[in-house]
Amino acid sequence: MKILVPVKRVVDYNVKIRVKADGTGVELANIKMSMNPFDEIAVEEALRLKEAGKATEVIAVSIGPVKTDETIRTALAMGADRGIWVKTEEAGIEPLAVAKILKAIVAEEAPGLVILGKQAIDDDCNQTGQMLAALLGWAQATFASKVALGDGTVEVTREIDGGLQTLSLDLPAVLTTDLRLNEPRYASLPNIMKAKKKPITERGAAEWGVDLTPRLQVLATTEPTGRTAGIKVSSAAELVGHLKTAGVL
Ligand code: AMP
Repeated sequence: MKILVPVKRVVDYNVKIRVKADGTGVELANIKMSMNPFDEIAVEEALRLKEAGKATEVIAVSIGPVKTDETIRTALAMGADRGIWVKTEEAGIEPLAVAKILKAIVAEEAPGLVILGKQAIDDDCNQTGQMLAALLGWAQATFASKVALGDGTVEVTREIDGGLQTLSLDLPAVLTTDLRLNEPRYASLPNIMKAKKKPITERGAAEWGVDLTPRLQVLATTEPTGRTAGIKVSSAAELVGHLKTAGVL
């Protein structure tokens, strides 16, 4: 069974985001980019299933402009077998277009599982996996914190408000990963070297007639309001006084 893992190139989670002067988005020039953290968890889960003999091949796919292949290379260095790069002019392709492209790739590759991140940390959409499952007509289990692959089925534990829910799905299925599913491995230097030789096939969205035109218009992007400076108090009595004035006590 093949496993398809869509991986998105996003601004690294350690980078302090700066909003562009015209408010149309965030600065991407000369910014460190990395694989979306939830997608690293998805790659790790797929690799563990392969290592357990339950999957035969792990394919990483990414949709994005120049340098997106670096993100696919990271997945290959972690252990994925091959990559598919759907090259676009722009970054930030909306979830519906991404899901339509993934549906076309699923039709060609026939994976038993597609494992996505639960959300991309740049747009926080949390939509692509759900849309893909709907377009394919497949079962889906989102926010997976445990995955147990059986014979033709998969059992998924999900973190829900106040507890856990365990579902059984028939394969093929779409899963999305939550933070506690696993701890992704680091790529070792020899594996980074090996990954350079692994194949990445370049494709174009036009091959499947998928329209990438955005349906949404960003009206404004704003930074969080800064915190006002605190004050130092000289005694507990003064602190209590301030808290009373502020209505806390
Ligand atoms: P989102 O719906 O944008 O929050 O993204 C959820 C998941 O969909 C991500 O964690 C990725 O697994 C996948 N995904 C979204 N956009 C892309 C993309 N451009 N290329 C590959 N995978 C993507």
